[in-house]
Amino acid sequence: MSFVNENFLKLQDSYLFSTIGKKVAKFSEENPDKKIIKLGIGDVTRPIIPACKDAMIKAVNEVSTEAGFRGYGPEQGYDFLRDAIAKNDYKDRGIDIDVSEIFVSDGAKCDCGNIVDIFSVDNKVAITDPVYPVYLDTNVMAGRTGDFDENSGTFKNIVYLPVTAENDFKPELPKEKVDMIYLCFPNNPTGTVLGKEDLKKWVEYAKENDSIILYDAAYEAYITEKNIPHSIYEIEGAKDVAIEFKSFSKNAGFTGIRCAYVVIPNGVKGNTKSGEKVALNKLWNRRQCTKFNGVSYITQRAAEAIYTEEGKKQVRDNIGYYMVNAKIIKEGLEKAGFVTYGGVNSPYVWLKVPEGMTSWEFFDVLLEKVNVVGTPGSGFGPHGEGYFRLTAFGNVENTREAVKRIVDYFKK
Ligand code: PLP
Repeated sequence: MSFVNENFLKLQDSYLFSTIGKKVAKFSEENPDKKIIKLGIGDVTRPIIPACKDAMIKAVNEVSTEAGFRGYGPEQGYDFLRDAIAKNDYKDRGIDIDVSEIFVSDGAKCDCGNIVDIFSVDNKVAITDPVYPVYLDTNVMAGRTGDFDENSGTFKNIVYLPVTAENDFKPELPKEKVDMIYLCFPNNPTGTVLGKEDLKKWVEYAKENDSIILYDAAYEAYITEKNIPHSIYEIEGAKDVAIEFKSFSKNAGFTGIRCAYVVIPNGVKGNTKSGEKVALNKLWNRRQCTKFNGVSYITQRAAEAIYTEEGKKQVRDNIGYYMVNAKIIKEGLEKAGFVTYGGVNSPYVWLKVPEGMTSWEFFDVLLEKVNVVGTPGSGFGPHGEGYFRLTAFGNVENTREAVKRIVDYFKK
C-alpha cells in the first residue's frame, strides 16, 4: 500500500487567481460590451529584448551543427553565465561572489521552493505577511508547519511577521528564536523595500541566532532610489548567513523562457544535531546534481546577453516602460484620495481599500463599476486584508485608461 505525503492535505487551496478568473469570466459573459482592463497579474507583457533574441538564435544555430552540439550541461550552469553574473551583479557593486557560489536555475520559484530540501524539518520558519505564497506552501509540503487554523487564517508552528502600514512595511524581528527567515524585497505584493539599516538588523539577528536568511530579490532591477540595497550581500556579514534568489523573469521578460539563479556563499553554514557545521553550498550542489539537469544552453546564452551593453540598455528601457505605468497608477490613485504604498522601487502598487470594505468587496466594485481587475490583498496572507495590489505590467494606454476610470468613479 502506498501512503501519501499528508502534509499536502494541510495546504489551503489557493482560490485567489482562480476566483478572480471566475468572477471576471462571469462578468464578461453578462456584460459583453464592457472593456475589462487587467492590472492584476504579476506576469510581464513586453516582448523578449532583441539582445536576448539574437543570442538565442545564434545559440540555436550553434547547437544545430556537429561542432556546436551541446548535450547535458553543468547542473550549476555554464561558466560564461556564472561569470557574467558574478561580475555584473556583484563585483561591479563591490561585492565579491565566487562563481562556485552561483547556481543557475529555471526560476526563482523553483529555487525558493526546492531550497527547503536541504534544511531539517525541525527548523522554525519565519515568513513576512502578506507575501509571495511559495515560501509558506513549500514549507507546509515539507512538514515544517502544524495544521491550518481557520480562525486566524495561519499555520501553526510558523512565525508570521506582519508587514503593514502600522510598521511602515518593515517586519519586526521575531520575539522567539527562528531558524529560517524569508525576506522578499522589493516586496511582492506590497512593492515596499528595506533600507540598508533595516536589513542590517536582520543580518545581525541571523548571526546572533545562528539562523539563515532566504532573501528573494526577484524585483531588484526595479529599485530606483539610492541607498536601497540591490543585494543582501551589500550588508556586512551577510555572506555568512544569507542565501539570495534572483531571477531574469521580471527584468528581461524571462517568465516564459525561464532562467534565474541562487547565490549560496561558501560561508553560509547549517548545523548537524551532533554539533558540526555544514556548508549549505555543498548540500545544494549535491541536491542540484541529483535532481536537476541544468538550464538549456540556448536559454543561458540568452541570459548572458542581458549583461551586454545593449542588453543592459534594453532592460533599462523595459523597466522604464513599466515604471511609467507604476507612476501613472500611484499618482492617479492618490489624486482620487487613495493611500498608496510601493510603486517607486517596484512594479507593484499596494493601496488601502476604502474604510469599511474588505479586499474582495473592493475587487467587486472595481470590476463591476469601472471594469478594472486587480488582486485582493487578503489573497497574500491575513495581514493583506484591507489592501489591494495593482501591477504596472500592463500596456501604458490601458493603464492610463484604467486609472482614469478609477479616478472618475472615486472622485465623485
Ligand atoms: N519571487 C517572487 C517574489 C515573485 O513574485 C516571483 C514571481 O512572481 C518569483 C519569485 C518567481 O520567479 P521566477 O519566474 O524566476 O520563477
